[in-house]
Amino acid sequence: MNRAAATPAPQEFDRVLSSMCTEPHPAAREAAVAFLADNPGDPATYPAVSDLEAEAVETLGDVVGLDDPHGYVGSGGTEANIQAVRAARNLADGDVNVVAPESAHFSFQKAAGVLDVELRLAPTGDDHRADVAAVADLADDDTALVVGVAGTTEYGRVDPIPELGEVAAGVDARLHVDAAWGGFVLPFTDRDWSFADAPVDTMTVDPHKMGQAPIPAGGFLARDAETLDALAVDTPYLESDAQPTLGGTRSGAGVAGTHAALDALWPDGYRDQYERSQANADYLAAELDARGYDVVDPVLPLVAADVPDDEFESLRNDGWRISRTASGELRVVCMPHVTRGMLEDFLADLSAAGRT
Ligand SMILES: *Cc1c(COP(=O)(O)O)cnc(C)c1O
Repeated sequence: MNRAAATPAPQEFDRVLSSMCTEPHPAAREAAVAFLADNPGDPATYPAVSDLEAEAVETLGDVVGLDDPHGYVGSGGTEANIQAVRAARNLADGDVNVVAPESAHFSFQKAAGVLDVELRLAPTGDDHRADVAAVADLADDDTALVVGVAGTTEYGRVDPIPELGEVAAGVDARLHVDAAWGGFVLPFTDRDWSFADAPVDTMTVDPHKMGQAPIPAGGFLARDAETLDALAVDTPYLESDAQPTLGGTRSGAGVAGTHAALDALWPDGYRDQYERSQANADYLAAELDARGYDVVDPVLPLVAADVPDDEFESLRNDGWRISRTASGELRVVCMPHVTRGMLEDFLADLSAAGRT
């Protein structure tokens, strides 16, 4: 067998419209390769990557409106969401529950499962955002955490974070914002979503999504040191004393790649990218609307539209990587690798699919 021919090639991005990940920034790719063998989980042995992580967390604080951030770069949004639930549970007494909108990412199901807490899901309104009254109905004295999403996975919606903060305060619960995808575009909008806009306790923000860092790179950020203390366990065999992270050995590539991406792009590069991505989403939405499809207005660079099954399948057969919302709409994420030219090709294939 010809081994070279059998070697799989990495995915090319020229037809990927479904992913929330993208090609890393070249500087991030280079840094990731350089720090591939460093373990930020063992800072006393690997101080260089540990320093990069501390700097990256500082800059992530700027991204999310927090002057003195506490946190780390972990494996992704799932880990950060689990940690938010874990911190809230550890800081509360007895059996606790978490209240989140139905639009919350499925990682909260995992968090509830591994941590054995009850997850209460509140319906969203017609605008696909958390319904504050429905969240308030489900919250009670046992609620340890209220979750809001800033950039939902399906429709790119931003929940009313300050109002959810009031609900949380009313039952003495913590407030977590999941900005895994939205965190690197929201700073350039006028939305209220950040630590500066509301009494947010913890936040998820993924450098490996809109942040153009390599996988794995997820950010977990907290307003207070108390949060990380509530997560820390003693670490007898390491030279450092305690570890708040969920993972032990962690990715030096993810940490160094995040540092490099932030260094290259925050804030101007990310702003330019947001403007390009949003313009692409607005263009795609307008074109789909003009062709008669029902389109969900893209408040962030994510377009959902009601495209019939046969046309969807035909696009897939043309090699387009596309996905659907739970209610079956086509969903296109305008990530940094998605160009206007790609969308023009996509629309041409859609027109052809509609004629067959
Ligand atoms: C992608 C995403 C997650 C999960 O993040 P991973 O990095 O895939 O673990 C959580 N929340 C939201 C809103 C997301 O978009």
